[in-house]
Amino acid sequence: MKIIIVGYGPGGAAAAVTARMFNSESEIIIITEETLESHQKPGASMALESPNTSDLKIEDWSFKALAKKRISILTGTHVVGGDSKAKEIHIDGSDGLKKIKYDRLVLATGGIPAVPRIPGTDLPGVFTIQTMADTSLIGKQLSGMKSIVVVGAGFSGLETAERLLALGKDVHIVIRSRLMRKQLEEPMSLELRSRLPDKLKVHIGMSPTSVIGEEKVEGIVLGDKRIDADAVLFMTGVRPNTELAKKLGLEIGELGGIVVDETMKTSVNDIFAVGDCVEMKDSLTGKPMLLPIGSTAARAGRQAGVIVAGGKKIYDDLLLRFQYDRIFNTDIVVVGHSSTTAKAMGLKPVVQYFDDPSEFAKAALVTSDDGRLIGGQVISTRMGARLGYEIFDRVETGVKLREKPLLRPRHERLREYLESTFGPIR
Ligand SMILES: Cc1cc2nc3c(=O)[nH]c(=O)nc-3n(C[C@H](O)[C@H](O)[C@H](O)COP(=O)(O)OP(=O)(O)OC[C@H]3O[C@@H](n4cnc5c(N)ncnc54)[C@H](O)[C@@H]3O)c2cc1C
Repeated sequence: MKIIIVGYGPGGAAAAVTARMFNSESEIIIITEETLESHQKPGASMALESPNTSDLKIEDWSFKALAKKRISILTGTHVVGGDSKAKEIHIDGSDGLKKIKYDRLVLATGGIPAVPRIPGTDLPGVFTIQTMADTSLIGKQLSGMKSIVVVGAGFSGLETAERLLALGKDVHIVIRSRLMRKQLEEPMSLELRSRLPDKLKVHIGMSPTSVIGEEKVEGIVLGDKRIDADAVLFMTGVRPNTELAKKLGLEIGELGGIVVDETMKTSVNDIFAVGDCVEMKDSLTGKPMLLPIGSTAARAGRQAGVIVAGGKKIYDDLLLRFQYDRIFNTDIVVVGHSSTTAKAMGLKPVVQYFDDPSEFAKAALVTSDDGRLIGGQVISTRMGARLGYEIFDRVETGVKLREKPLLRPRHERLREYLESTFGPIR
């Protein structure tokens, strides 16, 4: 059997490696436009600083590791189209169009940066960060620049702002409503806001209306306010890259992603799709949802890998969000639904907040009206990931909090221990 995977991000790489684990016989080929070895994109902004990003390499998916697993990889290769009836894809070879047959095909073509449609976004000095290779080039161009505007304050926007500040730039960040409005409850947004450094110039509740400049970027306009700048970085998310899927005749859903079932099968036989290019159904409400994050892409890739190798469904809930990053000395963790995303799905969430002064942490827990934990958020100085995993475990298994309570804050447990040993503390 010949398995072809288009894309070498977490979705494609995880699909290839998992397919090999479950099927030692098949021929497996990854095709990608990229030429760099697999790396962690959450660190892509490091390439702004230094072209040496070897620390970010994902060893399990390196060229050497793939070769050891007998997985071939065609890099720098664009899949231009295909014919799903003839079960072939088409690539631009050095000697013209080349057709490659497949038995099973996995599309992991990722996303395309979603830049707002405003005047001036085509000026030199406007950038998006999508690949490590792009980022190194952007880093070189930014080296002589002083004032930079980052539009968007999700994980990647904040991370990029942090890196630019470390490079000594004057950094402005533009936030449409409040920090991570969809992922964080308002008090959690405020907690994160309070931890941003003073030297980061935050423009909250504003959207860019145009980028201005004659021959290159000179600034950005936010309603009636203008910020002078040498460069503008749009970190405003991605939309699904479905160009190849459309050429193959796959069904595209109402949110613009490739429609897949819970085993990542598309509307066409023997074609599967995973990662930022797909839309899936939310497990609680059955409504379509886009979730363009790396951990989901890798989970979906593993699921597709098992299926193309001849196996079965392995995950109950593929669409469970887990995002963790440490930015500005703060752990930021987001699990499952926030009250904003839950309400958009028609649920009636209840939110409870917890403070743990010993860990300098604030946490929010989101439950559905039947008491099931459906999400949580942590903003903390340390140990955020530990609490995040505890929340993830409870959301994934669908328990009610009273059945499996979270570890109580450390200061409460410490007090209990001290009191049991030394008597009451006043
Ligand atoms: C700066 C930055 C920071 C991020 N931080 C986080 C984070 O903290 N946490 C998190 O969970 N996620 C984060 N993400 C998002 C995460 O990286 C993506 O969700 C993830 O990479 C998606 O994986 P994917 O496999 O779907 O696609 P991608 O990783 O986007 O890979 C797409 C692949 O498809 C290939 N391709 C596309 N079309 C073709 C074609 N026609 N022919 C050949 N090859 C093709 C490309 O070459 C590429 O190899 C971040 C992203 C960025 C850019």
